[in-house]
Amino acid sequence: MITKTDKYDVIVVGAGPAGSIAAKTAAARGCNVLMVEKRQEIGDPVRCAEGVAKPQLKEHIQPDERWIAAEVKGSRIYAPDGTCVELSEDVSGAEVGYTIERKLFDRALAREAALAGAEIHVKTRATGVILEGGYVKGITATHLGEKFEVRANIVIGADGVESKVGRWAGIDTTLQPADLETGAQFLMADIDVNPDYCEFHLGNTIAPSGYLWVFPKGNRSANVGLAISGEVCGQGKRPIDMLRDFIEERYPNGKIIEIVVGGVPASGPLEEMVTDGLMLVGDAAHQSDPLTGGGIVNAMDAGKLAGEVATQAISEGNVSKARLKEYETTWKSRHGKRLKRSLSVKNHFVPMTDSELNKIVHSVDGVDLSKMSLFEMLGTLIRKNPKMLFSLRKLFI
Ligand SMILES: Cc1cc2nc3c(=O)[nH]c(=O)nc-3n(C[C@H](O)[C@H](O)[C@H](O)COP(=O)(O)OP(=O)(O)OC[C@H]3O[C@@H](n4cnc5c(N)ncnc54)[C@H](O)[C@@H]3O)c2cc1C
Repeated sequence: MITKTDKYDVIVVGAGPAGSIAAKTAAARGCNVLMVEKRQEIGDPVRCAEGVAKPQLKEHIQPDERWIAAEVKGSRIYAPDGTCVELSEDVSGAEVGYTIERKLFDRALAREAALAGAEIHVKTRATGVILEGGYVKGITATHLGEKFEVRANIVIGADGVESKVGRWAGIDTTLQPADLETGAQFLMADIDVNPDYCEFHLGNTIAPSGYLWVFPKGNRSANVGLAISGEVCGQGKRPIDMLRDFIEERYPNGKIIEIVVGGVPASGPLEEMVTDGLMLVGDAAHQSDPLTGGGIVNAMDAGKLAGEVATQAISEGNVSKARLKEYETTWKSRHGKRLKRSLSVKNHFVPMTDSELNKIVHSVDGVDLSKMSLFEMLGTLIRKNPKMLFSLRKLFI
């Protein structure tokens, strides 16, 4: 049990991918690390379609068959009228490659953090931060009804989309409804699903302002879900009702064995991810891709960088905002441009009518996109649809 006298180098709040990688990185570099998780089981309940690209994942953890449910070759994108284009795995984005079991994956990451030396406390909820002289000096928390406080040189907020840690420390983390993708998903069993492709379905009836996905999980099962903008969410059918409409038509005899509901930031990253004594990582820093909602690998990259910078800053005896900025600047230099581009593409596509979406997909009918790089593919789409996509041109030159 943590006691009032305890003091750590680093406290990590939240044991998702961002938190566990941050804890593992800092612990492996010799820091005394505590990670707290409010749930009683790390990784459960799942709030994810569980798709992740292989190369980016392998930068952080060796793939393990115990948490890989399926491996795909690429993706198929369906226009509202059902026309389909096929993309190879390497141009399909950060969510296509493996479908993983997040319940096991998140636990495997936490285990790695533990093996590196981090202390982990589940069913332990951070309830506030200790602020002294403008610096974050630790957290207040509860465990099984007992309140306590723990101190640290640096707190890393990895508390996901519902993050409060940043707000407690004075960082504006507000998400407007339009900045949030709200989703519903069924894990379906006993369905006919192509095991080789992730499917993405577009259209204003199927998923207005968003998309619907089918991610195969092996054994005639798949994650079938959809996400739409929080702005549209209250205006018509709920995401779960739209999903039921699709299921009724496509998988009338399928069985639903799990329901997932959740949100993911779609705003692009926070302007400020650090303050004196505090760093925010993953969904807590709005680092998920605004176009696809994918956030696992971005969160893991952030966790690693934050763990590295935290260790270095502590060894220098300087945990000021100015020192911790190195994490923010480096993360943005690696991912910022791509996420900005995703936001622009999303803002361009969201207002399109079904007939415009159909036209774009038809324009590449017969063109083999499967072997193109992302840039070649977007270049082809822009050349074929100069009027509709002209304003996107500047993003790719
Ligand atoms: C429907 C849906 C589908 C998605 N599909 C994909 C996908 O296919 N691929 C992909 O890459 N991304 C996907 N995402 C996004 C992805 O799930 C997130 O980007 C990713 O989990 C972010 O990791 P994280 O570590 O930042 O946060 P999380 O994984 O959310 O972890 C945060 C942790 O903090 C804990 N916590 C919160 N508050 C406290 C507190 N006060 N004290 C202690 N612990 C706390 C939570 O319990 C949680 O365990 C999807 C999201 C949704 C909602």
